[in-house]
Amino acid sequence: PEHVMVVGAGLAGLRTVEQLRSAGFQGRISLVGAEPHAPYDRPPLSKQILTGDWEPERIVLAQLDTLEDLGVRVHLGMEAVALRPGDGGSGWDRGAPGHELELSDGATLHGDAVVIATGLAARTLPGQPAHVYTLRTLDDALALRDTLTRIESLLVVGGGFIGAEVATAAVQRGIAVTVLEGLPVVLARALGPDVGALAGRLFTEGGVDLHTGVALTGFTEPAGPGVAVELADGTTRSADAAVVGIGGVPRVDWLADTGIDLSNGLACGPTGRIHGLDAAWAVGDVAAWDDPVHGERYRDEHWTSASDQAAMAARDILGAAPPPATVPYFWSDQFGLKIQLLGRPELADAVVQLHGTGFDGGPVRGTVAGYFDGDRLMAVVGFGAARIVTRYRMQVAEAAVD
Ligand code: FAD
Repeated sequence: PEHVMVVGAGLAGLRTVEQLRSAGFQGRISLVGAEPHAPYDRPPLSKQILTGDWEPERIVLAQLDTLEDLGVRVHLGMEAVALRPGDGGSGWDRGAPGHELELSDGATLHGDAVVIATGLAARTLPGQPAHVYTLRTLDDALALRDTLTRIESLLVVGGGFIGAEVATAAVQRGIAVTVLEGLPVVLARALGPDVGALAGRLFTEGGVDLHTGVALTGFTEPAGPGVAVELADGTTRSADAAVVGIGGVPRVDWLADTGIDLSNGLACGPTGRIHGLDAAWAVGDVAAWDDPVHGERYRDEHWTSASDQAAMAARDILGAAPPPATVPYFWSDQFGLKIQLLGRPELADAVVQLHGTGFDGGPVRGTVAGYFDGDRLMAVVGFGAARIVTRYRMQVAEAAVD
């Protein structure tokens, strides 16, 4: 291609640009980002930024002059609002008329390849008041951090990774934290019921007032200042402030006119080519790639996947050989422990304790569990057991390819 347009200046968008250049692409690159900030790293938002250990300068992934040095035309504080796909019929690599990308200031960009890396927007609850926080961006994190310095109690709706990390930071600041989770255990979506139950002990042992299996009716008027929610059993819970951490919604609304399937982000082939569009790729949290080995499509909201997919898509755009296959990896820092997950637990049908005694009532720290499909180890999770988890990488990688 002559001009690659990358939409979304987060991790996946940035890595795509870098990978295109390192693979030798010398054509034009445009990078469009809705936020005013240079590309930055999101995992510290709910960790070191929220605890106050780090300032925002520390999480910058690329300065603007570095991007300029790479010959990238950067449009920040600018949203892509529409994509008019090019005439793929005659073949983009044979000089076909390209895509037209409309930006929020009315300008249009024309390119012969487009990469969509728009990530997620934080999901909110119906009727969620404006002063209830969500956490997805640097600005969200700074606003929440400021509030954490002033409050004594916090309500966290959602016992997922974001809820757990927010609770960790708040407890560390001496705030009384209540976590409300709709499912019977925390972290259930990512880790499943057995390991989720184990993780729940981290919350309670960490000093959180944890309520699982609770149905939230909605927000209600608090008796005094602060926030109150009503539960299905008729009781209310209130606190000085509240955070909702109930996952994210792929940012694809702006692609509605293209007519492609937007039901779970952007449906892509195994190298990130968007189904139904020519010369268009999607990478990162917004992208649902086909898994050629296990025969289904999935969307991975992991930091390492964003980088891995960017490397794969960049090479595909240039017609270069693919990079080596990787194993999905995720980490989270909660209540003084690092949780690490290798592989895909949802492909397994049994969970076995491999190390430690957490499942028998012993300490959570040091516990490692394996997720098996028959005798194949599909995933491993460890709680404060980094060296042990690493040992299983090869075994999980082997299960992923057969
Ligand atoms: P993003 O980083 O979300 O970037 C997308 C960018 O696109 C955003 O800047 C957005 O403003 C922009 N954009 C959206 N729409 C448009 C548009 N129409 N036009 C232009 N720009 C647009 N993963 C881990 O593995 N471990 C962790 O511990 C961990 N912690 C996390 C903590 C937090 C608080 C969050 C939010 C995420 C965390 N993650 C973690 C997930 C990880 O950060 C993501 O997987 C990663 O950021 C995905 O990168 P991305 O580029 O796909 O999306």
